[in-house]
Amino acid sequence: MPQIDKQSTQLSVLGITKRYGDFTALDRISMEIRQGEFLALLGPSGSGKSTFLNILAGFENATDGKILLGGGDVTSLPPEKRNFGMVFQGYALFPHLTVTQNIAFPLRVRKVAAAEQAQRVKEIIDRVGLAAHSDKYPRQLSGGQQQRVALARALIFSPTMLLLDEPFSALDKNLREQLQFEVSRIHREFGKTFVFVTHDQSEALSMADRVAIFEGGKLQQLGAPKEIYSKPKSEFVARFLGRINIFPLKNIRSEAGTVHGAFGDSLLRASGSATDNCQIAVRPEHTTLSSAPVPGDHNNVRVTIRGVAYHGATVALDLLSAHTASPQVLSLSMSADVWQRDYHLKSQDFWLSWAPEAGLLIPYARSTNS
Ligand code: ADP
Repeated sequence: MPQIDKQSTQLSVLGITKRYGDFTALDRISMEIRQGEFLALLGPSGSGKSTFLNILAGFENATDGKILLGGGDVTSLPPEKRNFGMVFQGYALFPHLTVTQNIAFPLRVRKVAAAEQAQRVKEIIDRVGLAAHSDKYPRQLSGGQQQRVALARALIFSPTMLLLDEPFSALDKNLREQLQFEVSRIHREFGKTFVFVTHDQSEALSMADRVAIFEGGKLQQLGAPKEIYSKPKSEFVARFLGRINIFPLKNIRSEAGTVHGAFGDSLLRASGSATDNCQIAVRPEHTTLSSAPVPGDHNNVRVTIRGVAYHGATVALDLLSAHTASPQVLSLSMSADVWQRDYHLKSQDFWLSWAPEAGLLIPYARSTNS
């Protein structure tokens, strides 16, 4: 496995903007892509991820901004001069070519000598585990094998980096998970930088070294999966990455590294320092449900159970807090066994509780708050 310094910058994106007429699809995107990292570009449909990938690849021109590769300006270079490998949605294998011929294609285009082509193709076919399938056509391969052909074809000419555009988007959940492990393995094995577009949060969190979150053409946050999940900088990022309970606060005050504020008749606390319009957020997995408030400095919010969704091993509860002007819908996940044993017969009020350290302070976004 290649040893790579994953902290060194390979590609710098400086203020990339893309406008279509009056519409701004990308708004001053800047980021450093690091040597050998697996970077996911994550966002809802229409947020600008594919436009950004296409600009990195050279298929589209930016309206403004620069891209530097190893310090050199590649902003106006055509795709073939950038030496990036591409894996497209659905893999785009040539149906009339065998596995060997598909993988050899980039070498043929580059007029590599026949003997060298044969040797490099054989080597990569062995590395990705396709030796038993080298003479088959794409239609004779499973989804996983097709993906390996697409990756081998994109890696065979030693690209500077690999750009992957939603490669799993058309697959069912089980196959997706299997292929995600496979892509991660190939990423580690080849040591190349992978930049990967996805709209699937769990895919980005489970596969990437870092995740760049796009919304409305803007880069909202860039960081390691754990960091963006546990320290979202905005309500959009917090909600986009998973279920979260958000409590707008009144009468906020800050004291010795703790913020205090009122939510209905509850006094809530979180570690940090206050801004005028902050709110406390907590992920469902950091909360508990009980029939009395948890004593000490815990946060406690009175709730009723509005609905239950069974997910096999766990249940997701839909909770209602009626102690604010507009009732707040909250959520909690717990083991299905615990639910069955302790809660299912009860219909009284409960208390949703969590430790102040488990809460996050995030700015108040009026438009998306329910
Ligand atoms: P994503 O990949 O996140 O789904 P895209 O990058 O495909 O988003 O698109 C971002 C926005 O730019 C969308 O609103 C889309 O309609 C718009 N867009 C993309 N390509 C064009 C184009 N050629 N002309 C006009 N608008 C475009």
